[in-house]
Amino acid sequence: EHVNTDALLKLEEEGLKIHPSPRALNLIKDKGLQKLFYQKHSIPTASFDLYEDGEAIKVAIKDGSLKTPFVQKARSGGYDGNGVAVIKNEADFAKIMPTSSMVEPMVNIAKELAVVVARNENGDIVAYPPVEMEFNSIANLVEFLVCPADISENIAKEAEALAKAVIEKFDMCGLLAVELFLTPDNQLLINEVAPRPHNSGHHTIDSCYTSQFQQHLRAILNLPLGSTKMKSPSVMVNLLGAAEHTGPAQYPGFAECMAIEGAKFHLYGKKITKPFRKMGHATILDADIEKAKEKGRLVMEKFQIIS
Ligand code: ADP
Repeated sequence: EHVNTDALLKLEEEGLKIHPSPRALNLIKDKGLQKLFYQKHSIPTASFDLYEDGEAIKVAIKDGSLKTPFVQKARSGGYDGNGVAVIKNEADFAKIMPTSSMVEPMVNIAKELAVVVARNENGDIVAYPPVEMEFNSIANLVEFLVCPADISENIAKEAEALAKAVIEKFDMCGLLAVELFLTPDNQLLINEVAPRPHNSGHHTIDSCYTSQFQQHLRAILNLPLGSTKMKSPSVMVNLLGAAEHTGPAQYPGFAECMAIEGAKFHLYGKKITKPFRKMGHATILDADIEKAKEKGRLVMEKFQIIS
């Protein structure tokens, strides 16, 4: 999302084939344009308003046109929760960011889901089984990604159909991770998309017939898309740098975690660890998803990244 799309558009004008299409990238990299696109194509998403800057948001609060609680999102440049501010009441007004923003009301979220889809030039589309982000209710952090999501078959089908419709509407080839909110009354709302291999597809390299990385290459090269079938249920754990540790990374506990049946570790080779830096991830396969979660918790406890 952070690439120079003007340069890509120019290359396209000069006759080069660019996947994913720079036009789609332009829409996706601006959260405001992305939401306008969903609105235009009647794709279900939370209602929203656009504001030029933080001052405009404060004016809207004062004149009563914007009510708390709301979620402010920087239109561009955000990632992993950076560029997102939850404003619940007056005490949070100091957190309002000065940037050009898209603002949504707080959605009552029962589950956060993601569906990775792929499309090639032929127009073939495949979807991976929906995954669920499971939160730790005490730390209020994403603990695991669980595949498959614990949802009804109907909701799963609906989520897949929605994700397929979105990649088709963007008219793009490649991989698209579609993040969704499921509300308590079983409504699916698109939160946002990412046009690339994504955290919510990391498990596929170990747990599905075709990994998201190979699928991406198949999609952009207009090859037959691979099967998205699961070989096994799985849990994915992000391996983050420990709080209060900055410096050359060390991994005590790695060997102990390697002994866990079905656990595989993917380290990114980053030399320096920082608090909560994504240093790698682990996938844990188990035919019993509850056992996979237990093993995932063990990995979270034992796998330390310190300096
Ligand atoms: P990022 O691009 O940083 O991932 P998101 O738009 O996905 O930002 O927001 C990060 C998280 O904030 C979401 O995963 C969700 O938990 C929460 N969130 C985002 N929008 C809303 C909303 N409208 N209502 C409630 N929670 C939200």
